[in-house]
Amino acid sequence: MSNGLSANMSLDEFTTAARAFLDANAERREAEKTFVWGEGSDKVNVFEERTREQELVLLEEAKDWRRKKFDAGFGWVGGPSEYGGSALPAAYDRAFARIEGEYKIPNQGFFSIGLGMVAPTILAHASTLAKDAYLTKMWRADIVGCQLFSEPGAGSDLASLQTKAERDGDEWVITGQKVWTSGAHFSDIGEIICRTDADLPKHKGLTGFIVDMKAPGVEIRPLRQMTGGASFNEVFFTEVRVRDDHRLGDVNNGWNVALTTLMNERAAIGGGSGGDSVLTRVFGMVRHYGLDKDLIVRNKLADLVIRYRVASYNNQRALDKIRSGQTPGPEMSIAKMALTDNQLRLGAFLAEVLGPRLQADTGEWGTYAWNQLVLGTPGLRIAGGSDEVMRNIVGERVLGLPKDTGIDSKSSFRDLQK
Ligand SMILES: Cc1cc2nc3c(=O)[nH]c(=O)nc-3n(C[C@H](O)[C@H](O)[C@H](O)COP(=O)(O)OP(=O)(O)OC[C@H]3O[C@@H](n4cnc5c(N)ncnc54)[C@H](O)[C@@H]3O)c2cc1C
Repeated sequence: MSNGLSANMSLDEFTTAARAFLDANAERREAEKTFVWGEGSDKVNVFEERTREQELVLLEEAKDWRRKKFDAGFGWVGGPSEYGGSALPAAYDRAFARIEGEYKIPNQGFFSIGLGMVAPTILAHASTLAKDAYLTKMWRADIVGCQLFSEPGAGSDLASLQTKAERDGDEWVITGQKVWTSGAHFSDIGEIICRTDADLPKHKGLTGFIVDMKAPGVEIRPLRQMTGGASFNEVFFTEVRVRDDHRLGDVNNGWNVALTTLMNERAAIGGGSGGDSVLTRVFGMVRHYGLDKDLIVRNKLADLVIRYRVASYNNQRALDKIRSGQTPGPEMSIAKMALTDNQLRLGAFLAEVLGPRLQADTGEWGTYAWNQLVLGTPGLRIAGGSDEVMRNIVGERVLGLPKDTGIDSKSSFRDLQK
């Protein structure tokens, strides 16, 4: 391997090299200080709330870190060597992630859609030319990718999408509108699903493409969410030209391309369990208000802790399956449902403890700040397949219940049965 790692190195040799790289390039986190109510930041967000200027600075820091890591062989540990990956087993990838967690590194959230969803789809479905053009650059953070699926009239029922792509010689001409596109404003490329044959059944007339987000005819407009920030966008396409070698998969096989992306989306969203640091704050809050001896509060808190813990074990099981090369299945739907259900229960608990302090900003530390988490939770309930759609999947695939009749039972957005 040109990056200095060897394909035959043992896990011990790999972790030694990883530590040496991290020690030389990043600062270690201080040992977790015991949480003290009222000290430090009281920010508890689901979505990052920042201005576009702040975002650009953070994006550059995130890119610098990713480049350094990629050039040293730790950027795509399990990836194929032809695209700059280190082609090492999943256990090595996990080991690096664990060790990296001990260091202060710039927030890598900018790349979660591009690397978590778009890049795996490019690897699975793109032409050799497109793989060569994009995979290394994406994993090295030279370019960032976004997901252009949802439209004003097509979300859960993705196959109803109307953005069309018409063939013109060696090119396709795309016209239409996408919406809720996270990170479109800082992305260089997007994975777009378009209608290429309106005469075929709706989920059969779709095709996927890689589109240049800076091409003439692409217009990106921010959408503000109720928490204050603007993580999403509407994206308008007016006769945007895409070369045929930027097609993903066969013409009219876009549904399968979309499913590859969605499988990975569920894994990415469900993979976050919410976690221990939030619960530590909740304990602090309960003690601060002298409720730690209140039997009803203790009972509700215990229930929350158990639910978060079970979700985290379930996520670990599902992620291990993915990392060992198996296809994510209904476990990811369960993981996603557990995450949002736990956040909703947490919101209800916070409202009981804090009362009006959750709604009106009195300036008191650790009270109104929770509002960001409570207002961000509905977004989580929708992203990557809404709660109702997740329940349909679990009902049908796990419990063997009859299929959802829906508008068109064969084209439900997050229906992973096909
Ligand atoms: C945080 C966030 C990030 C996102 N990022 C992206 C992105 O980067 N790219 C992108 O393309 N999209 C993105 N989306 C859009 C997301 O994929 C859609 O919002 C989602 O698929 C739901 O579609 P919709 O909003 O059109 O709602 P609809 O599909 O219209 O659903 C409306 C309601 O009807 C319910 N419903 C729909 N169908 C059924 C059914 N069969 N049975 C029972 N109930 C049903 C839903 O549960 C929901 O409550 C994002 C959304 C969020 C919230």
